[in-house]
Amino acid sequence: MQTTAVKEWMDSVVKPEQVQKYMKGGKDFIDEDYIEDTLLKKIRPEKQEIREIIAKSLELRRLEPEETAALLNCKDEDLWREMYEAGLKIKQQVYGRRIVTFAPLYISNLCVNSCVYCGFRKDNQESVRKQLTMDELREEVKALIQQGHKRLIMVYGEHPSSDAGYIAETLKTVYDTKVGNGEIRRSNVNAAPMSIEDLRRLNEVGIGTFQVFQETYHHQTYKRLHPKGIKADYRWRLYAMHRAMEAEVDDVGIGALFGLYDWKFDVMGLLMHTIDLEKHFGGVGPHTISFPRMEPAVNTPYIEKNSYKIDDDTFKKLVTVIRLSVPYTGMILTARENAAVRQEVIQVGCTQIDAGSNIAIGGYSENNPDHHKQQFILGDDRSLDEAIRDMASLGYITSFCTAGYRAGRTGHIFMDIAKQGKVNNLCMPNAILTFKEYLLDYASTETRIVGEDLIGKELQALPSDKIRNKVSDMLEKIEAGERDLYV
Ligand code: SAM
Ligand code: SF4
Repeated sequence: MQTTAVKEWMDSVVKPEQVQKYMKGGKDFIDEDYIEDTLLKKIRPEKQEIREIIAKSLELRRLEPEETAALLNCKDEDLWREMYEAGLKIKQQVYGRRIVTFAPLYISNLCVNSCVYCGFRKDNQESVRKQLTMDELREEVKALIQQGHKRLIMVYGEHPSSDAGYIAETLKTVYDTKVGNGEIRRSNVNAAPMSIEDLRRLNEVGIGTFQVFQETYHHQTYKRLHPKGIKADYRWRLYAMHRAMEAEVDDVGIGALFGLYDWKFDVMGLLMHTIDLEKHFGGVGPHTISFPRMEPAVNTPYIEKNSYKIDDDTFKKLVTVIRLSVPYTGMILTARENAAVRQEVIQVGCTQIDAGSNIAIGGYSENNPDHHKQQFILGDDRSLDEAIRDMASLGYITSFCTAGYRAGRTGHIFMDIAKQGKVNNLCMPNAILTFKEYLLDYASTETRIVGEDLIGKELQALPSDKIRNKVSDMLEKIEAGERDLYV
């Protein structure tokens, strides 16, 4: 495509009035002085104060910025241990002993932007460019269904050829592809910010959660790391989720890429983002929060020389503070992290992971993790079967359930249930049912043995005989060949 045509397209995408309408006095909701002052004000939190804040989180109440700042500044390892325990407790209370599992599906790496940390950036000559045709996409989806997947996050570069029309077509193709008993029941999308009109189009074809990560909330750093392309517009991105909510995309996912700037500032940014969404949309904040950590990418030297990289211990701490700050939201831990880190961090309150992931464009059907077609290099290369077995050994049921969404439990309906800590009552039975389907249709013998044992335990742990009997009946039906049963 000619440079002038790309430039014209870029000018037509951004709608300034769809940003300004949410701003106050010409300012966005990231007030850097306020964030920095608050972090400074709470630089030496008292033991008692930290314990009171933990108690508030355990009541499933969202924290205020001063409270989150106090947790971020805690230096007492004993208190951190209390926070880790509280994180897990909150997660178990709201979501139960289950982990929702999905696969990332990279659709296109054509991109007009120049994010310095990304292998897909426009000027990376070593990146092999590819955009899936609908036939190629079907092959990818079939390969994923054959592994046992039911949920996807579809990922796109920002380019005129992967505009809302193309994304809508790919979503339809995914939902139309079936293999035997298998199908994809929910497709989330991680793509560039869009206008309200484009987001409505995606809503019509059944988009799941729409994800856009702000990368860093710090204005100057953002500007330096996103020098060209549409992504250089900080505020078009910052209000992407406001537009999505206005377009009635019920579930939105925010995130920050950790390792770009000071981690404490960006955790505060995620909280301010949550608060602003709740303020504008009747108390409904993000459905999920993501906290990717920067990974190496082919021909991307910025990653090695940057000074904000964070170690595993700090990573665990920041995930814990996010968990305590927004107790009712979903939290996504990706295969960017290696298996050991994932096993550790999952225990402080994560609710979703990807597994069996291949992030090369066309990588599932070609069975080839070609790093030149990848955005970055994954840390966890366990197969889905292995990851599920490891999760089961830790006592977590892998859930492929999408019943909640299909029964209309999205947006404020979901949030109300989550805030009362009641998601678990509905979701644990459905997690057991979808786990059973997986064990019968896709699991190795080893995984089936560990999994059946866990199902036995979880059946006993269900809150009443009535539910237990109902789920037992449904399990028998699944054994007899029925599928897609949910309560
Ligand atoms: N192109 C769209 C965008 O930038 O919003 C959507 C897809 S982008 C491929 C998905 C996310 O990958 C980005 O938002 C960023 O947080 C993350 N990412 C980019 N480079 C990364 C790296 N080197 N390591 C880990 N995550 C990275
Ligand atoms: Fe393009 Fe997204 Fe990569 Fe930036 S992060 S270069 S927008 S694919």
